[in-house]
Order: sequence, then structure tokens, then C-alpha cells
Amino acid sequence: MGAIKLTGRGRRWILGGHPWVYADDVAGGEGEPGELVPVHDPHGSVLGWGLFSSASKICIRFVTREAAPPDRAFWLGRVRRAIEARERLGLLVPGGACRLIAGDAEGLPGFVVDRYADVLVLSSGCQGSDRLRDLFLELLEESLPFAPRAVLDRSDTAVRRLEALAPRVEWLRGAPVETVEVVEEERDGDPCLVYEVAPAAGHKTGHYLDQVLNRRRAARHARGTEVLDAFSYDGLFGVRAALAGARAVLCLDQSAAAGERLARNAERNGVADRVVFARADAMRDLRRRGEAGERYGLVIVDPPAFARNRREAAGAARGYRELNRRAMGLVAEGGVLVSASCSYNVRREEFLEHLTAAALAAGREARLLELTAAGPDHPVLLGLPESGYLKCAFLRM
Ligand code: SAH
Repeated sequence: MGAIKLTGRGRRWILGGHPWVYADDVAGGEGEPGELVPVHDPHGSVLGWGLFSSASKICIRFVTREAAPPDRAFWLGRVRRAIEARERLGLLVPGGACRLIAGDAEGLPGFVVDRYADVLVLSSGCQGSDRLRDLFLELLEESLPFAPRAVLDRSDTAVRRLEALAPRVEWLRGAPVETVEVVEEERDGDPCLVYEVAPAAGHKTGHYLDQVLNRRRAARHARGTEVLDAFSYDGLFGVRAALAGARAVLCLDQSAAAGERLARNAERNGVADRVVFARADAMRDLRRRGEAGERYGLVIVDPPAFARNRREAAGAARGYRELNRRAMGLVAEGGVLVSASCSYNVRREEFLEHLTAAALAAGREARLLELTAAGPDHPVLLGLPESGYLKCAFLRM
């Protein structure tokens, strides 16, 4: 069995609460890829146990600060805790969808599971979660109050390259499912929403579950207005806005497949007459529409991550400022801009600075109504800021 010894700085870092140890803070030792190893301080005392990576700059992901090694019962406890939290939130109703397990934030490093009705889609992002995948899935099936019809391993995210892991997409249980229909039941006055998810062909695990609550919040500003939903994917900000009484909704995305699903989603919810999709480069299209004098009562911009690492942050700053300048120019006086950022390298305060600069450049005044994150099925572990990536600003112009 492997073991790792930290430097003094590594020890201080871990005692400071962050669960990841970078390779620079490792003084010695070794392990197999993804192995659960004891982690020692420079004097040889055990600090706890973590998952080792032989390739990533994140050398250890801490699992426990106890001296005893995690066993099956330990992992079962972690999985159960995650499932019970969703159950208490009412997220396990039949036909619904939610993130069941949010990886590192849940003490299950690298292991993410989304549920779309009775189909599970898991995604493994590090060597440790690859090694423990089969055990984690078994424990998950033991903990769930329903039996999944099918389980897809959708481990094809870019971060796997940092772990020297090849992309992998394979059905682990049941027959392959091309699309699954999800029903978000009527709740707190928000109408029922029905949509389609393509687990294998869609983005991420098939859908952007982190925006579920923000779509509802955005829809509150939609009644009687014209809405522009940029970077719409399969259109659920737009469809929710239409359900809430928007006069007309224009969705923009570069993905033709997303546009096809969007049309079916609009149809399913009875709003096809008011939701239109245009395949376009949203950056350029927003500028063109601004120059043409178009104005909307509600504009949503939800772009992909502009900064995948700290080095890209400067480019991201320019990207967010320019995108939001263009978006603000399209908001009618008194209208609302919903602007999201999913780059975890751009902190909340920084994002607000970008929005402030954008407003200045657009010559507009903007008031922050809310700055939200993802929903409670995407918890953020305090001490691990990397687990909280989504920021969503609601601005009245
Ligand atoms: N708002 C969506 C999620 C958007 S994810 C939701 O609520 O589900 C980001 C989307 O931006 C993806 O669908 C991707 O296809 C799209 N995209 C990326 N670059 C783009 C560009 N330059 N122009 C238009 N769409 C783009």
C-alpha cells in the first residue's frame, strides 16, 4: 500500500481546511493511480486518508481526517447522507431530476451523479473516483428509494486529461436510453415544466441542472415582455419565461442539436407559438441586434466557462465585460438582465466587477437584485471554493 508525506507547507494547507494537496506540497511517498493512501505530516504522524493521483497537480484529495482508513460502511455513510439530503428537499419525486451526488463537496471526490427521472448519469473526474466507481455505484443503488432503469457512465469531461484518464462513455445498467423525459412539478406557484434530456448526446451529463432555480427566478421578470435567451442550450430559461407569460422569446445557441430539442421542449409545454430558436454565434449576434436597435424586457446570458484555469482569467475578464456590455445594451429601460458565469476561477466579487465595468462601458445604470448560485443539490464545500462555480446576477437596468 502507498503512503504520502507532506511538506510543512502542505500540512499547514490541510490544517487550514482545504481538502486538496498539490504536488508541490508533497515531500515524498507514492501510491497507485487513484489509491486510497494514508497522508502523513513531516514528522510521520497520520493526518488522515486521501485519494492519490499519479498525474494531476492535485496529488491528494482528502477523504477523512480520521486515523482509521475508510471502509465500505464509511463510503455508504457518505452516499446515504447525499441521498437523504435530496429526499428531504423533495427532489426524489418520480419523474423529476436533480444532482444526486456533487463530488468533492459531498466527500466523494470526483464523483458526480445526476438523476433524470429513473435514469442515472454518473461522471468520474479523477483517478480515485475511477477506481472506486463500481463500489460507489453499488452503494448508490443500495441507498436510493427507487431502482434506476438505466445507468450511464458519462466520464468525458476535459478535466480527465489532467488526470491522464481517457474519456469514457458506457452504459453500466439497463438498455441505452436516447432521450428521457423529465417533469419539474408545479411548485411555489411556478408551473409544471416538461423537458427532454439526451444523456449520451447532450452536454455534460445531458442537461444543466445547476440552473433549475435560476430559470424560475428569471421567469418572474418575464410577464408581458419580449425575452432574449442567449446561450440557451435546449431553451429552458426561454420556455420557463414563456410559461410565465412572456410575449415572445428568442433563444440563441450555436448548437443545432440543442435547437432541435428546444423546439420539442417548447411544443411539450404548449409555448411553441412564442418561442423561436436561432442558431448563431451569440457574441456576434448580440452586437448585431444591439446595433439594429432591438430592445428586450428580459435578457439572459448564460455562456460556457470563459476561464478554465487561472491563466485564462485575464481573457475571461475581457470576455465577460464585452458580452455583458452588449447584453446590457439590449435591455429596455427598466428591464432585467440575468447574467451567469460558470467559471470557477472567476470569484463572485470579480464577476460583479466585470458587470460594473460592463455597465459603465454600456453607459447604463444597473442595480443588483440578487446574486445567486446553483441550487441546494449543488452544495459548495466551505474550504473548497472550487466546488462553487456558478454565479447568476439579476440586474435591473
Ligand atoms: N442556458 C442553458 C445552458 C447554457 S450552457 C440552460 O439553462 O440549460 C452554454 C451554451 O452556450 C451551450 O449550449 C453552447 O452550445 C452554447 N455556446 C457556446 N459558445 C457559443 C457561442 N459563441 N454562440 C452561441 N452559443 C454558444
